[in-house]
Amino acid sequence: MTTNLQTPIDYLKGVGPNRADLLRKELGIYTYQDLINLFPNRYIDRTQYYKINQLQQNNADVQVIGKIVAFKEVAQKQGKRLVATFQDDTGTMELVWFRGQKWIRDNLKLNTTYVIFGRTNLFGGKFNMPHPELELIEEHEKNLRSAMQPVYPSTEKLSNKGITNRAISKIIQELFIETGGRFTETLSETLLSELKLIKKSDALFNVHFPKSQELLAKAQFRLKFEELFYIQLQLIIKNLIHKSKIKGFPFEHVGDYFNTFFNNHLPFELTNAQKRVLKEIRADLGSNAQMNRLLQGDVGSGKTIVAFMSMLMALDNGFQACLMAPTEILSVQHYNGLFELCKILNINIKILTGSSKTSERKKTHEALENGELQILIGTHALLEDKVKFKNLGLAIIDEQHRFGVAQRSKLWHKNTSPPHVLIMTATPIPRTLAMSVYGDLDISVIDELPAGRKPIKTVHRYDKNRLNVFKFIREEIVKGRQIYIVYPLIRESEALDYKDLMDGYESISRDFPMPKYQISIVHGKMKPADKDFEMQRFIKGETQIMVATTVIEVGVNVPNASVMIIESAERFGLSQLHQLRGRVGRGAEQSYCILMTGHKLSNDSKTRLQTMVKTSDGFEIAEVDLKLRGPGDIMGTQQSGVLNLKIADIIKDKDILLSARFYAKKLLTEDTSLSKTENEVILNTYKALGKYKNIWNYIS
Ligand code: ADP
Ligand code: MG
Repeated sequence: MTTNLQTPIDYLKGVGPNRADLLRKELGIYTYQDLINLFPNRYIDRTQYYKINQLQQNNADVQVIGKIVAFKEVAQKQGKRLVATFQDDTGTMELVWFRGQKWIRDNLKLNTTYVIFGRTNLFGGKFNMPHPELELIEEHEKNLRSAMQPVYPSTEKLSNKGITNRAISKIIQELFIETGGRFTETLSETLLSELKLIKKSDALFNVHFPKSQELLAKAQFRLKFEELFYIQLQLIIKNLIHKSKIKGFPFEHVGDYFNTFFNNHLPFELTNAQKRVLKEIRADLGSNAQMNRLLQGDVGSGKTIVAFMSMLMALDNGFQACLMAPTEILSVQHYNGLFELCKILNINIKILTGSSKTSERKKTHEALENGELQILIGTHALLEDKVKFKNLGLAIIDEQHRFGVAQRSKLWHKNTSPPHVLIMTATPIPRTLAMSVYGDLDISVIDELPAGRKPIKTVHRYDKNRLNVFKFIREEIVKGRQIYIVYPLIRESEALDYKDLMDGYESISRDFPMPKYQISIVHGKMKPADKDFEMQRFIKGETQIMVATTVIEVGVNVPNASVMIIESAERFGLSQLHQLRGRVGRGAEQSYCILMTGHKLSNDSKTRLQTMVKTSDGFEIAEVDLKLRGPGDIMGTQQSGVLNLKIADIIKDKDILLSARFYAKKLLTEDTSLSKTENEVILNTYKALGKYKNIWNYIS
């Protein structure tokens, strides 16, 4: 009989109520199962010993054999530290404790041989090891040592309370003894043999007690694969259920609106990528299932026209469409752009935002409900309960990361049956991450810019070169171009940032005086109407310079603007820099992006700036961003499982992820309901993961 792995951790030998409590609080370990899935962060070689005269500065994970010959207490600013003199036949070093000193004094013996383990520092010409792990030599020799000793995740509190790495290793050992090391297999025979994976029990044993480097690698591979496989399985199943459960409106025909526009009024030749994406959307809209698609396309790749033509498909089938954007400025811009196209086609389009007048609003509500109104553009205002459609067939969301998932679903519920949903984002997400974060959506990518666009020239300039930069601005203005100057706005230092912006504005006003130069300023503290007024002056070309905070980051389209100057560029994240740069390079003229910084730059800042100068490929930039920041900061990852991965690493284990997704898809294609006997083990594991919501009813 196998032990029930749901047994609370308190029942394990060596884990009393106190320890159990700490394990729960500090590491989230409640059950045997949780403990077995506490995977080492890394492995260290405990067969190696150093002599004190071999130590080097900042040596991590060194082991030394020797004796404590003296203790002393040293007063410091706050409290005192305990220092022991530790000696071997080559010299002496110090062991230092800042906490837990009483326990150390009471329990450690002088002139007795210990093995110490930890990280060394050089301080005052002498090596020291703060808070070493100590073991009596006899004890040390009894314990199993290997060249790959696991290092488990820990917290300060745990080590303070004596739950050291060694202690954790010991209780895991107990768990293996109690369970006999036999664990239920969680992957099918087919997968095991096809991928040459080792068995679950062997993998768990070798990840905790590696017998060899080779077996450790196999164990890690198997466990990473399993982890990613079940995440992908879950995402794909979610997508499948969605498609079978949520019936969409099939847009059966391509009609007059679409055809007339396509044949007679297309303002430019579509790029191949735009054509491909339109086909993908068309296929979704024509099927019985509700579309749930993410459209990724770099800034300026031409997502709007794709959105518009998708709306025409809805209109051709007698449905309404809406487009929701995160800001008023963007909504207005979309509205103005689409209004022109709608006029040609005789389509009724309106805009609804927070600043729409009550009387207008009423009219819009009515026209929407009786079906007169065909396309509605707007902000969050579209989500209000009062906004009722007659028959919303397609909802498009621009820049989705600004809207939460809850808001998205609110749009869905505006109908008896949810509309098709297209989410557009200009924040490229590395493929592997997209797969994990948006794995339940279908993804389309516009990976090609319209022809004839000149790449934006990007340079990095230090503040001391400002005069040259201003000279360059003047030359561009003489050529009739317009300039953006953007200041950072970070919530934590809003007041300071605001001051920077105002100081900057004043100094620019001095260098570019009226009436020869006109300057717009836009920032978050302005009333929407004032903001809009200033924006409009710039859009109409009445002002040559736009001084702004990042409110202009998203979507603003002024093709005549050819220079983007980013102040304190070192303070922006990569994706933000990339977004900002995307504001220029929209017209036929050569455009420039100038990254202004001070002299002192961190390594990460340098990497960001160099990346910007080197490439304009949004996906490449996103990859660097992911490497610099990890997945935690990237939009959407918080809600997804990628941050809770126990063993796999979304960045390093890309290939395993691709393979896991491939096999999850393959499995569901061959056995959608996982009803084949050979897949029973997968079904059971999947159910046990707690994601199971009787979903199989929907899939047949
Ligand atoms: P984004 O994907 O950033 O929303 P837009 O849809 O605003 O990009 O398009 C950027 C600019 O490129 C617009 O001025 C648009 O009219 C133009 N554009 C879009 N597609 C094409 C194309 N195939 N050929 C030429 N210009 C295009
Ligand atoms: Mg856009």
